[in-house]
Amino acid sequence: MKLHEYQSKQLFAEYGIPIPKGEIATTPEDARRIARDLGRRVVIKSQVLVGGRGKAGGVKLANTPDEAEAVASQILGMNIKGLMVRKVLVDEAADIAQEIYLGIVLDRLQRRASMMASAAGGMDIEQVARETPAKIVRVAVDPFLGLREYQTRQIAYGIGLKREMIKDFNIIAQGLYRCFVELDASLAEINPLVITGSGALQALDGKILIDDNALFRHPDLAALRDVDEEAPSETEARQRGLSYIKLDGEIGCMVNGAGLAMATMDMTKLFGGSPANFLDIGGGAQSDKVAAALRIILADPHVKAVLFNIFGGITRCDEVARGIVAALDEVKPSVPMVARLVGTNEEEGRRILAEAQMQTASTLAEAAQKAVALVKGEAAVVQLPPVEIKPLQASRAAAGKKSGAKKPAKQAAVKKPAAGKPATKR
Ligand code: GDP
Ligand code: MN
Repeated sequence: MKLHEYQSKQLFAEYGIPIPKGEIATTPEDARRIARDLGRRVVIKSQVLVGGRGKAGGVKLANTPDEAEAVASQILGMNIKGLMVRKVLVDEAADIAQEIYLGIVLDRLQRRASMMASAAGGMDIEQVARETPAKIVRVAVDPFLGLREYQTRQIAYGIGLKREMIKDFNIIAQGLYRCFVELDASLAEINPLVITGSGALQALDGKILIDDNALFRHPDLAALRDVDEEAPSETEARQRGLSYIKLDGEIGCMVNGAGLAMATMDMTKLFGGSPANFLDIGGGAQSDKVAAALRIILADPHVKAVLFNIFGGITRCDEVARGIVAALDEVKPSVPMVARLVGTNEEEGRRILAEAQMQTASTLAEAAQKAVALVKGEAAVVQLPPVEIKPLQASRAAAGKKSGAKKPAKQAAVKKPAAGKPATKR
């Protein structure tokens, strides 16, 4: 979960990191009042959960309360990278001599938190990492020892801080590290950390990502979630306990189990399609959950077909099939669908779906191929029995029967039909 700049900076302040004085405004009049109370030049900053607000015109200075009101009315309602600005932070403006980057992330490779700093602050750190990686100083923090003072000194010298700033820098770096650890963050970042004209350090921007899996032990942080900033489908998915990640493809995938979902996405790619999402409906799969998942998938206008891939273990296939049918009844989708059900009570499950005029498949390869064909508008394929779309079947028949109807379909799973030539060589 991402926190807003103003939320992040308030938390930073609790950890002893100096931040500018300021307040949140939702109307231009609020902004004027706050500017008047601060009694000096202010900066008006859009609060949206994306980076690069400065470049997008979402960060502006104002010299007087009048100007603050005018600038706030410009920024409020602005659209920044698809997000509407509903709040602005009105901060006292800083007198900036230099901008520094200071951040801490979890480094999975090293299995440690890694603190990074760069003298090229204010810029996008990914860009610095790409173009001038030598400008980034990093230290890995031993979780048992914590961030040591010699490490913060090493960072400070590495980015060329003056000796007299090192004490303050150490306090900020230690605060950021404790904030990162205690809040179960996956990232805590100050960009820019500025050196003011009088040589003081101050965090002007803040970004914190909280590990969603740790939110249960931070109810105060969970309450900071800004639902306005989420895609409605993500909000619904979270509330229903579905793991959903939107992707750019055209095949909506509804799967039970994360590993199975990954395999399903791979298969749609293998057969020339591309998944519109990752979606793990988890265990159970009652009709209301299936319906919610279906609504979420169909809310994406890019989806041209839906692929259900369900493994019935403790949850029986017939139960899931009834769930799907009930969900179809409720959602009434306009795109074609194909379902592959295997496991406990699969025959009954498939019968229920076939009765509901739904395409079914008995292998994932078959289902993925059908979904790809449906996306390409090759409706004719849909009418054909599954064996017809498998080049392997023809060769089997030619080679002289001997196998059951199902075996070729399984074989097809490892053959890529897109290769163009029939699989005659065996
Ligand atoms: P971001 O673009 O979303 O990362 O937003 P930031 O809060 O980092 O602001 C972008 C840039 O605006 C900073 O790098 C600064 O150069 C500038 N800026 C932000 N706050 C102030 C301020 O108080 N005074 C001045 N002069 N510039 C500021
Ligand atoms: Mn920034």
